[in-house]
Amino acid sequence: MNHPFMINDQGHLTVDGVDTTYLAEKYGTPLFVYDVTAIRKNARAFVDSFAKLGVKAQVAYASKAFSSIAMVQVAKQEKLSLDVVSQGELHTALQAGFPVDKIHMHGNNKSYQELEMAVENQVGCIVVDNFFEMDLLQDILSKHQSTMDVLLRVTPGIEAHTHDYILTGNEDSKFGFDIANGQAEQAFKRLNEIESIHVKGLHCHIGSQIFETDGFVMAIERLFETMHHWHKNYGFIPEVLNLGGGFGIRYTEDDKPLPLENYVQVLVDEVRKQASERELPFPEIWIEPGRSIVGNTAVTLYQIGSKKEIPSVRNYISVDGGMMDNIRPALYQAKYDAVVANKANQSLTETVSVAGKSCESGDMLIWDIEVPQVEHGDLLAVFSTGAYGYSMSSHYNRFPKAAVVFVENGKDQLVIERESYQDLTRFDLSYE
Ligand SMILES: *Cc1c(COP(=O)(O)O)cnc(C)c1O
Repeated sequence: MNHPFMINDQGHLTVDGVDTTYLAEKYGTPLFVYDVTAIRKNARAFVDSFAKLGVKAQVAYASKAFSSIAMVQVAKQEKLSLDVVSQGELHTALQAGFPVDKIHMHGNNKSYQELEMAVENQVGCIVVDNFFEMDLLQDILSKHQSTMDVLLRVTPGIEAHTHDYILTGNEDSKFGFDIANGQAEQAFKRLNEIESIHVKGLHCHIGSQIFETDGFVMAIERLFETMHHWHKNYGFIPEVLNLGGGFGIRYTEDDKPLPLENYVQVLVDEVRKQASERELPFPEIWIEPGRSIVGNTAVTLYQIGSKKEIPSVRNYISVDGGMMDNIRPALYQAKYDAVVANKANQSLTETVSVAGKSCESGDMLIWDIEVPQVEHGDLLAVFSTGAYGYSMSSHYNRFPKAAVVFVENGKDQLVIERESYQDLTRFDLSYE
């Protein structure tokens, strides 16, 4: 298993030395439990790989994967930069004391208020996504007599096809400027004319859960081709190339992720090659991993409740959470692996499907998984729920949001409290 969790003498699953049955009892369920040692390990794999190769880089944690004050503080401790996509994520970063010059602001529909908040706080850079935003930013910068570094988000026209990436003529995406249809160049020319804006380089993000490197290689080629052209025509010297995130992780045994170091090696090699062929200076490389920093570092603990056996069809077990704390199976048919945490060393004797508790037939967490004999009160631990779990959680059926605990070297600490029923009705006003 490619996750950092171990089983103790009692046959219980542990997270960084702490028994999950103890955690469930102490904090209740559903409960997100993060192994902070594993988060640091992932972060360092990226940061150290660039350092070893002697490359100037920024590893920006894509905070949408899991944003909270504690998480942003860990990112800060690990010297990561930070991607934010909204005022809420920016607010969280500021509350966490994250260094503003290492915050990058994203979004395909940044509002005036969001951009103004970014300018007022002097974030490190804004990734410009569309023409409308340029006008807003120009106005705000002139109002505040300020300047801003930007990256231009482009879509290189690379499409994932099952296991391959192919180059397409045009990109149909809500994000960024298409290179092939000339809009990227138009955007660059327009940005170049705005005195208060400094174009530091290009940005692209080609997808998520990527297990191969050829898509990145193709994107780098495309970006250098573009930058070469802009260098010849406009004297543009790119300082930064931001290649986005999307590095794949293991959810089930079908997923075969590359070691994080390998991605870095391939990116650096290709940028080196392209820079020298195109006679451009070697730029700083920025990446934006989200899932690959936190995804495999957490489990969600659920208590198993009812069991439904439909003879010669299927056996269901239900847990005390579901799509409200993990929408990914319902949204993307995402697959997960799990273990009965209090029986983690017992032999697997039956096949069950794990149902969530909400009022949707589609609220299934796992189809057909092998488990030991289970009974109500057992604890189910679903692996690899660290990314896009809590951050996508909802109040569907008015379930309060789960709690989040960090564990490091045998010590557990609550970092997001469980919501109460009072919290749920806090903003409701009566109409009598
Ligand atoms: C979502 C996103 C990321 C992070 O993607 P992961 O798959 O979590 O690594 C990085 N950059 C951009 C622009 C994104 O939209």
